Amino acid sequence: MEAISHFIAGNAYQGDDDRSGAVFNPSDGSTLYQCRYASKATLDHAVSVAAAAGRAWAKASQARRLEVIFRMRQLVVENTDKLAELIGLENGKTIADAKGEISRGLEAVDFATSVAQVTKGEYSYNVGGGIDVFSIRQPVGIVGCIAPFNFPAMVPLMMTSMAIASGNAVILKPSERVPGAAILIGELWRQAGLPDGVWNAVNGDKDVVDAILENPQIGAISFVGSTHVGEYIYQKGCAHGKRVAAYTGGKNHMVVMPDADMESAASAFVSAGYGSSSQRCMAVSLVLAVGEGTAERLRGLMVPMIEALHVGSYDDPKADFGAVVTANAKQFVEQAIAEAVTDGAELVVDGRGFVVPGLESGFYTGATLLDHVTMDMNFWKSEIFGPARGIMRVKDLDEAITITNAHEYGNGAVIFTRSGHAAHRFIEEVEAGMQGVNVAVPVPVGHHNFGGLRRSKFGDAHMFGPDAARFYTKMKTVSQRWPKPDQEEAALSLAFPG
Ligand code: NAD
Repeated sequence: MEAISHFIAGNAYQGDDDRSGAVFNPSDGSTLYQCRYASKATLDHAVSVAAAAGRAWAKASQARRLEVIFRMRQLVVENTDKLAELIGLENGKTIADAKGEISRGLEAVDFATSVAQVTKGEYSYNVGGGIDVFSIRQPVGIVGCIAPFNFPAMVPLMMTSMAIASGNAVILKPSERVPGAAILIGELWRQAGLPDGVWNAVNGDKDVVDAILENPQIGAISFVGSTHVGEYIYQKGCAHGKRVAAYTGGKNHMVVMPDADMESAASAFVSAGYGSSSQRCMAVSLVLAVGEGTAERLRGLMVPMIEALHVGSYDDPKADFGAVVTANAKQFVEQAIAEAVTDGAELVVDGRGFVVPGLESGFYTGATLLDHVTMDMNFWKSEIFGPARGIMRVKDLDEAITITNAHEYGNGAVIFTRSGHAAHRFIEEVEAGMQGVNVAVPVPVGHHNFGGLRRSKFGDAHMFGPDAARFYTKMKTVSQRWPKPDQEEAALSLAFPG
C-alpha cells in the first residue's frame, strides 16, 4: 500500500518519520493508504527550506507574484476534476459538492490578485519640518496553516493564497484524514511558477501541530477546525509570540418568522442543513420556528424533502450527500440522536442505521430530523457534525434572538421573514459573525471578510477577505526627512518633540 508523505521544496519529501495513520475512503469504508506523520526533524527541514525560499520571495516584485497567482488560478480551473475526485474519495462529499468548494476556494485566489490594492500604505506629506510619514506592509515571514477535514481544497486555498501573494512562505498542515488535495495543490503552485520552498505541506496530527506552534521561525498561525483545538492553538501560539487567527465550530440557528415564504424557507433549511452530510461550519443546525403553527407548516414541507434525499457514494451522480468522514463520526451522530430522544425530542425522520447497498462498510448515516429540541439538551448545546438537524419552537422573535445568542458559538445565523423590521432587529441584536436574511448559508464572497464571533473565532484578525492581507503582513511606519546636505543641523534639544 502506498503512503502519502509531505510536499517540501517543490517535491514529495520523505523524512525519518516513524508514525503514520490510515486515510479512509468513507464511501466504502476501505483504507486508501497510509499518511506519514511528520517528525520534528521533518518539520524543522520544512521550516529551514521555507525560511530560505521566503526571504527571496519577499523581495520578488508584485508583478512577479501576481503572475504566479494568475497562473495558479488557471491551473486550479484546469485541474478541477482531478481535485474534486481526490476530495470526494478521501472526504466522502459528492463530486458536485467538491466542485462547489473548489469554486469558493478560487474566490480566495481571485482576491489575492488584489494584494497591491489592499496592502498599499498611507503617506502624509510634510507633517512638519520637511518630514514625510508613510507606512509599508511587509510579509510576516513563515505562516503555519492548520486545516480541517471538511474543506480539503477550499480552506488551504483560502489560507495560503493571500499569504503567498503578500510575500510569505507557508507551511500547511492539512487534516490527516484528507491529505491528498493539499499535495496536489502544492504541485499546482509549483507548476504556476512559485519558487520551490515557498509553499510546503507537512502531514501529521497533534505532534506536528505542536512543533509548528513552538517553532520560533514561524510568525503567524491560521487555524480552521473545532473549538477545543482552536482555543488550544490560539493560546499556545500566542504564548510562543505568534499572531494567531483561529476559526472554530458553529451551531447556526435559522429563525423562520410566521410571515416568511415557507416553501423557500423549507427548501433552504434542507439544502443548507444536510448538504455535505452537514459537515460544514456554516450548515444550518436548527430551525427556530416562530409563533403558532409555523413548525407544523415547515414540517409538512420539509419532511417529504428530507425523506426524498438520496444518500450515496461520492461518485454517485444522483447522491444529494455522501458518507460522513469516519466510522467514529457516524457513531457520534447516531449517539447524539439517541441521547436527544432520551432527553425528550421527537424523532420525526430517523436516518440511523442507513446502508447503501453494495457499500455496507461505508460510513453512512441518513438524514435525521428531530422536533421539540430544547436548550437543556446536548443536541442543542453541541455541534453535531453530521446529518441530524432539529426544530425548536419559540413564541416570538425575542425568544429566537435570546436562544441564538445564548449559544457558545456565533459563526452564522439567519432569518427568513418578509419583515424588514424583524430582519433589521435580528442583524443588530444577534451576535454572529456571518448573518443571512432570506439566505441560508451566508458565507460571504471572497472579497468580504469571513469569520465568526464568540467561541467560533479566536483572535481579532480575519484570515480570509481583505483583513487577510493585514493578518499576513506587518506594518512599519516611517518618518523620513531629507535635509539638504549643506543645511545647518537643528539646535540640540532633549524635550519631547511637540
Ligand atoms: P479538528 O479540530 O479535529 O482538526 C483541525 C486540525 O487540527 C487538523 O489539521 C488536525 O490534525 C489538528 N488537530 C486535531 N486535534 C488536535 C490537537 N489535539 N492538537 C493540535 N492539533 C490538532 O477539526 P476537524 O474535525 O478537522 O474539522 C471540523 C471542525 O472544523 C468543525 O468544528 C467545524 O465547525 C470547524 N470548521 C470551522 C470553520 C470556520 O470557518 N469557522 C470552517 C470549517 C470547519
